[in-house]
Amino acid sequence: MPANILNLSAYDVLGFEENEHDYHIDVETVKMPTSCPHCQSGNLVGFGRREQTVKDLPMHGWRVGLYINTRRFRCRACARTFYEALPEIDEKRSMAKRLAQWMGKQAIKRTFASIAEEVGCTEFTVRAVFNDYVNELEKEICFETPKWMGIDEIHLIKPRGVIANIQNNTIVELLPNRNKETVVRFLYYLEGKERIQYVAMDMWTPYHDACRAVIPQAVIVVDKFHVVRMANDALERVRKSLRESLTPKQRRGLMRDRLVLLKRERDLNDKDRQDLDGWTKNYPELGEAYRLKEQFFAIYDTGSPDEAQSRFIQWQKSIPPEIAHAFTDIEHAWGNWSIPILNYFNHPVTNAYTESLNSLIRVMNRLGRGYSFEALRAKILFAEGVHKHKLLQPEFERKPADKRQGEPVPGNFMYFWTEGSFARIVPKPPPVSKPYIPKPAEKVEREKNYGADISTLTRMIENGEI
Ligand SMILES: [Zn+2]
Repeated sequence: MPANILNLSAYDVLGFEENEHDYHIDVETVKMPTSCPHCQSGNLVGFGRREQTVKDLPMHGWRVGLYINTRRFRCRACARTFYEALPEIDEKRSMAKRLAQWMGKQAIKRTFASIAEEVGCTEFTVRAVFNDYVNELEKEICFETPKWMGIDEIHLIKPRGVIANIQNNTIVELLPNRNKETVVRFLYYLEGKERIQYVAMDMWTPYHDACRAVIPQAVIVVDKFHVVRMANDALERVRKSLRESLTPKQRRGLMRDRLVLLKRERDLNDKDRQDLDGWTKNYPELGEAYRLKEQFFAIYDTGSPDEAQSRFIQWQKSIPPEIAHAFTDIEHAWGNWSIPILNYFNHPVTNAYTESLNSLIRVMNRLGRGYSFEALRAKILFAEGVHKHKLLQPEFERKPADKRQGEPVPGNFMYFWTEGSFARIVPKPPPVSKPYIPKPAEKVEREKNYGADISTLTRMIENGEI
């Protein structure tokens, strides 16, 4: 066992034992209490001790138990007795505060069971520590309210609402469901909600109604992606109804051509074109459906809402009655959502956002199992390293050159493992040639935090890092 440092400055190490799994470290506080907590008198007398066992951070894969030899005092002034306070210890949980902090961080990327095993506690304790940790994070971490907000759906065990900052490609909140009440409550308590200018969403009425009620100033935009995919769905419906009238052999051919049909015309290669021509000659309805799909996409080639609306009307008139049934969903959606759909032409949502969110949605199902919604939400919003513009946290700072070479900082004690026990040494001060000048206390400024970066999150999930 190498030289070791417990690195809890408020405690002296009295003894040390180890077995196969555990370190047992006997400690006592460095400073005795100087006054009675009841009457503040300094007239104290020792009144026995008791041993308190608390868990500490695992070290080198060993679980660590601290046996604190806690002193009890009697106050001569008020005759009451008390135990000394234990700095750095969470007495409620019988663990070092730094262990609770570490467990909270770990619980964001690992299962509660694996942490319980490593620390030597129950999963119940891990869950309780995790909840406290997340509550602390909620207080500390405050995401900027997006000017361009996205409300979408994400599947985590069941459909959830995901709130995004579109300009920054980040997620700022996950809502347990997609109900109007849930969205209303979220928006109502959102600081700076009056500064939201645009909300991009799918055609989901509860989102629309919640925004109208709480942030009426925001322009609602339906993203192109959500509209044009309805044209693909319509084409699929035509293809599927056609299949039913075919022989098994013909069906297999049509199945293979599904991907060709879904391609945009400009992306077809010679082989695709040949296949498509073959099918559309034999099955004119399929050819018509393909034309309608392409022409519907083409509505989005214009940059003006008026032009888009007139293209839509032209398009609608050109739907042949035989396949009209497949396109009624689009007609209804356009009718019910025409203003938000047309708003897109003045305020297009960037494709970067839509694409990166879709990539995230594709990897999301790797997260789901074994976690509660609260744990999943915390993983997504608070995973370490996921934030765009993190809260300012001092960087790890290398010691100045004159203080390396084994010269400890004056005033700090260090513990070394010598001859079977810990020894506390008071180090010599560093050489005087280059005095250590502490930096003036800097004003800690909060950097803006835009939320969990969607691309980083996707990569971390793919790599199994959260
Ligand atoms: Zn007293």
